[in-house]
Amino acid sequence: MTPPLLSNRIATLPKAELHLHLEGSIQPATVCALTARHGVVTTEDEVRRRYAYRDFPEFIEAFKWVTSFLREPQDYALIASGLAEHLLAQHVVYTEITLSIGVMLLRKQQPERNFEALLRATEPFETRGLRFRWVFDAARQFGADAAMEVVESAKRCNSKAIVAFGIGGDELSVPTEEFRRVYDRAAQRGLLLRSAINDPELMDLLAERRIPLEICPASNMKTGALARQLQREKATIEDHPLLKFLRHGIPIVLSTDDPAMFHTTLTEEYANAARMGLQEKELARIVEMGFQHAFSPASERRGA
Ligand SMILES: [Zn+2]
Repeated sequence: MTPPLLSNRIATLPKAELHLHLEGSIQPATVCALTARHGVVTTEDEVRRRYAYRDFPEFIEAFKWVTSFLREPQDYALIASGLAEHLLAQHVVYTEITLSIGVMLLRKQQPERNFEALLRATEPFETRGLRFRWVFDAARQFGADAAMEVVESAKRCNSKAIVAFGIGGDELSVPTEEFRRVYDRAAQRGLLLRSAINDPELMDLLAERRIPLEICPASNMKTGALARQLQREKATIEDHPLLKFLRHGIPIVLSTDDPAMFHTTLTEEYANAARMGLQEKELARIVEMGFQHAFSPASERRGA
């Protein structure tokens, strides 16, 4: 018999999950409940078929489809409870969840009302030992004015639980310089900034300045991003540069990104890291770095 990839000790260590999109975390059963709320009958099999893609554009299609059913604050409450149960089962005690506020605004929703419902839905889980923090995300392709609206809505929500502001979406759509004033405003509002850098040439800089890389292996595989990066037809998990980054001294944050849509869990991502050749103590160090690189002050990251 082959030994399990992941020791029980690593699997059950309390963990932080820092790169997680609420809208990408809706498990098939919850999707069915969600569509039913809006009069559409869906089967879990159908959801699984939609949750299979060959490339990034196909993934975006599925993302648009599932989020088209997020119409009312109660819809957000429903998916947040589902996610919270899932995270507890993964031994997650602290999470920073990214919300696509840009999409809410595009759909003429009031982010404040959705956020209020999210806080109410997640409150019972805080007492069960799972701490929630939130990242307000603007979609780059909607432009700088729309992104500014996201910053303003974070202000209106007026909650200490909102810790950061990010710009996700299509990286090639609008150049970063155009968002300068948006980032300035976000900083004035006390929001920290989250951006993803993933260029091997920056390895020394990242190591020197202790800038963490957020790595989501299943996402890198399922969107074809790793193969593209390596300029290969196909890539396997063993080709992932995570081990190289870590041993170069770059802090690593291991995350699931869109766990339901990429058919992964945080435990599975640690197993992926083990497949890449990481040793037990390196896995434990990554667990620790998840807490070190959270946006909240150190005193707030683990339950009292
Ligand atoms: Zn992401």
